[in-house]
Amino acid sequence: MIRLSGIEKSFSGNLVLKGVSLAVQEGAVTALIGPSGSGKSTLLRCANLLETPDAGTVEIGDVRLEFSGKRRPSQSDVLRLRRRTGMIFQNFQLFPHQRVVENVMEALVTVQKWPKAKARERAMALLDQVGMSEKAEAWPATLSGGQQQRVAIARALAPSPALILCDEPTSALDPELAEEVVDVLRTLAKDGATMLMATHDLRLARSLASHVAFLEAGEIVEEGAPDAIFGAPTEPRTIRFVRSLG
Ligand code: ATP
Ligand code: MG
Repeated sequence: MIRLSGIEKSFSGNLVLKGVSLAVQEGAVTALIGPSGSGKSTLLRCANLLETPDAGTVEIGDVRLEFSGKRRPSQSDVLRLRRRTGMIFQNFQLFPHQRVVENVMEALVTVQKWPKAKARERAMALLDQVGMSEKAEAWPATLSGGQQQRVAIARALAPSPALILCDEPTSALDPELAEEVVDVLRTLAKDGATMLMATHDLRLARSLASHVAFLEAGEIVEEGAPDAIFGAPTEPRTIRFVRSLG
């Protein structure tokens, strides 16, 4: 069960998520769409506790954490939840002072306490999967954006997360490099990864997602199958937004 329920979050009095509930189908891709500032990134960050929700419940597999008021989750709860998620950011966020393979090994060694040799072996297999094994010893800064993002995907996959969170995974890339990344994400999706992906890319959402949720001003206005949301939305605000995507 992967579910966010009643998630509320405000920043200095500005209510950014107004009680968002979303069930994420396992083995499928859920796309989160919506205007800039609607709260997509904040919702993803609440799902792995990069932000602490003010209220609501985050449920990922066997971990279920409830939030209310000022009570902060314990460090061990944060870690338990984080272990079940992997995050892919718009701007890759590789560790610049670690080689490619070390980036992918990092969580296995520091969080999961794997022996280095075993972690390296898994990292190499994942790099192979994303077509980056030849760059295992390279520094992140020497890679193209598309290559960096593929390494970031391998890194997110390393701890075998139950949920992969993707925040605009292709929007910092020009179309050709974006396509490399989309190919990798498509393979992951075919292999049954569970993903929650914020994206402005209509084509990406249409080609990968089996479920689409439209977020506006911190509320899910409408959700459903991609054909329904993109082809025949019913809420005026969804209609307006989908039209604006062109
Ligand atoms: P975009 O499509 O531009 O990525 P988004 O839907 O991801 O937008 P968020 O980044 O979640 O939107 O931001 C939602 C609102 O929360 C915005 O008004 C933003 O300014 C505010 N916000 C997000 N993070 C913070 C923060 N750390 N401190 C203060 N305000 C924040
Ligand atoms: Mg965002």
